[in-house]
Amino acid sequence: MKIILLYGGQSAEHEVSIISAHTICQLIMYGYYQVQPIYLTKDGRWLKGPLLEQPPTSVKQLTLEEGQEASWANSDDEVSYGVAINPGEIQEPDVIVFPVLHGPNGEDGTIQGFLEVLNLPYVGAGVTASANGMDKIISKSLFDQIGLPQVPYVAFNALDWRTNEDEIVQRCEGSLIYPLFVKPANMGSSVGISRVENADELKAAVNLAFKYDRRIVVEQGIIAQECEVAVLGNDDAHVSVVGRLVKQQDFYDYNEKYINNTVTMEIPADLPESVTARIQEYALKAYRVIDGRGLSRVDFFVTSNNDVYINEINTLPGFTPFSMYPLLWQETGLSQRDLIEELLQLALRSHETKQ
Ligand code: ADP
Ligand code: MG
Ligand code: MG
Repeated sequence: MKIILLYGGQSAEHEVSIISAHTICQLIMYGYYQVQPIYLTKDGRWLKGPLLEQPPTSVKQLTLEEGQEASWANSDDEVSYGVAINPGEIQEPDVIVFPVLHGPNGEDGTIQGFLEVLNLPYVGAGVTASANGMDKIISKSLFDQIGLPQVPYVAFNALDWRTNEDEIVQRCEGSLIYPLFVKPANMGSSVGISRVENADELKAAVNLAFKYDRRIVVEQGIIAQECEVAVLGNDDAHVSVVGRLVKQQDFYDYNEKYINNTVTMEIPADLPESVTARIQEYALKAYRVIDGRGLSRVDFFVTSNNDVYINEINTLPGFTPFSMYPLLWQETGLSQRDLIEELLQLALRSHETKQ
């Protein structure tokens, strides 16, 4: 069987996706599977690399640049070049597609819808769960509906802002306490997110967030630990142990996540058992309400007096060597290789049974 690995993509999380794809490539059981890497460039071209019979040993692919058509290399000396293909050309028998694409145009249901149309099995959440999970305004309203605790927030779109800027600022200041977090509704990896302390910063942050989406959510900032839990499965999903991010600074922004790597993880998190249980219960509820399938990482805030608030659900969590999702399963007793195998089997099962 062949695994078609889609990575790169047009979102601001392009680079993260390449590292995740490289990690996943290392974990796939060559012998059972061949890997067909397909690199989605930032300008939307699909480049088909050489069929991999063994894991790539080079990290050259991590430095792929826009316009440079070098694809996966099997060794440092041997670079193969990607061939531009039409996306529909990935349709063939006996394949499983593994979309390793974070953010819009990958994690949000668009690629998933395309794969549904092609009738191909694919790893991870379907169209509904992907769209629900990526959109912070929709997921928040779903979480509200089932009574999951969240920090207070205000949501609006570009038209609201253009016509009622002052009224929205007043609404934020009337119902939320600074500092606030301003977020584009559809994004990830902290891209476009700002922490603000006053009305001027709020306005500037809203304008920045509009670069990424026409819909914005403003949240009350909270002083809390960030804890994360992994979910795996289709209708029979189960949860991992809980992990905690040990941060040098409060705002876990893109630089801290991927550049500085100042964040370490405590797995399992040293939390009272009742808090762990609550996080796991909320995570499964969140997974069900978005119609989760395959995998998700559910992120929480835990305050010093052990109040738990759900922050967000990520249907295609990072899969780099320092990513929480695979490490959570490893600590739960599922090796990273077995995790990949389980994800592939879940993809096949859901394709065959629509469950
Ligand atoms: P993304 O989908 O980009 O990861 P998040 O909602 O998780 O977006 O926000 C990114 C980071 O910003 C969080 O991991 C956390 O460090 C910080 N953050 C976000 N919202 C809040 C909040 N309401 N209070 C405190 N910190 C927050
Ligand atoms: Mg996210
Ligand atoms: Mg997050």
